[in-house]
Amino acid sequence: MATLEIKDLRADVVTDEGNKEILKGVNLTIRSGETHAIMGPNGSGKSTLSYAIAGHPKYEVTSGEVLLDGENVLEMSVDERARAGLFLAMQYPVEVPGVSMSNFLRSAATAVRGEAPKLRHWVKEVKDEMAKLEIPAEFAERSVNEGFSGGEKKRHEILQLALLKPKIAVLDETDSGLDVDALRVVSEAVNDYKANNEVGVMLITHYTRILKHIQPDFVHVFAGGKVVESGGKELADELEENGYVKYTDKAEAAV
Ligand code: ADP
Ligand code: MG
Ligand code: MG
Repeated sequence: MATLEIKDLRADVVTDEGNKEILKGVNLTIRSGETHAIMGPNGSGKSTLSYAIAGHPKYEVTSGEVLLDGENVLEMSVDERARAGLFLAMQYPVEVPGVSMSNFLRSAATAVRGEAPKLRHWVKEVKDEMAKLEIPAEFAERSVNEGFSGGEKKRHEILQLALLKPKIAVLDETDSGLDVDALRVVSEAVNDYKANNEVGVMLITHYTRILKHIQPDFVHVFAGGKVVESGGKELADELEENGYVKYTDKAEAAV
């Protein structure tokens, strides 16, 4: 069992012109076995939330807490966060020329597990997971993300998820850039991971289409840097129908 608690989190983005507050008091609790969809318009701060949890240097937490099983995540190094069981796709480099996917994944798994996976098991594990994601075998020898299409990067993100076996996974716009077939494959892999592991998932998106494949237990509307409404699946249907207008008005009124 694991619990990620985000309490009244405020964070700035650090720019050349100074700091700008983006997160304005986020409250959210995610437990193992639960999938939470975070839905909100462009620019509402969804990615900032995932970067703040990841410890990205361009984002500065000004107040509030992020706790994983009561431990202060904000005081951990990026590696410590991964070892503690947090999976944040964007903590990994975008492109790493000269480092093959298979070496990269093995180093990442070694860092998270605290020891290098036994080579024979590892090769099979990677092969099986790649097959599930319909990633061609030759990708194992390609440089990390170099020249990958948007969809290929997303498949590899989920490959990392499956191999690193986190307790809490933050997936930011996993559906972006995927065609219908890729969306199905990626969603099935996430569902497969959910079925076989006690994981809490935070699924950030602004489209409802991924929620037709990955069933959320909770849906949260994110607007103006905070969660402004929470509900079940029916909330996603309401958003599909009416959009975010009602909530963006609410967020502006609260500023
Ligand atoms: P979302 O993921 O919901 O689309 P983001 O978290 O990416 O939103 O962005 C939230 C807000 O923060 C936006 O207004 C965006 O322009 C601003 N922002 C994010 N990063 C930077 C940056 N590096 N410099 C200036 N503004 C930024
Ligand atoms: Mg966006
Ligand atoms: Mg975003």
